[in-house]
Amino acid sequence: MVKYESVGHVALQEHWPDRHARWTATRARGRENDRPKKGKAEGTARTLQALMSLTLKCRVCKGLVSKSKAVQAANKRNDNTFKPGDGCGSSTCSSNFVNTKKQYLTNQANMRDAIAKGERILIKWPKRPNDKHFHTLQK
Ligand SMILES: [Zn+2]
Repeated sequence: MVKYESVGHVALQEHWPDRHARWTATRARGRENDRPKKGKAEGTARTLQALMSLTLKCRVCKGLVSKSKAVQAANKRNDNTFKPGDGCGSSTCSSNFVNTKKQYLTNQANMRDAIAKGERILIKWPKRPNDKHFHTLQK
């Protein structure tokens, strides 16, 4: 067995014996128990659902775009800006259009219905992908 040693570890042992004891106990417990559990409360589920339901209107083709997809596309570039066509699945905007036209139109129809039913929320494009606040649009 390899004994884990580091400068920090030695410093803990020498200067803060109580913290070293806590550190050792935490390590011995294993890591899985220390990780936060997946949120299962009703409020958490509702918030996550609302977050995933945010919908944008593509600036290029006016198609409906899931905000999470747009953020994903923007984050791939890692420049913290939205570019026209981000997250859009239409043949105009997507460089690797794999869906059939029928699939795309079905998805668009589903999103439109969900907006009409209030299950999706149409919002204005945030300035930056990591903006947490949003402004809703009138239907
Ligand atoms: Zn588009």
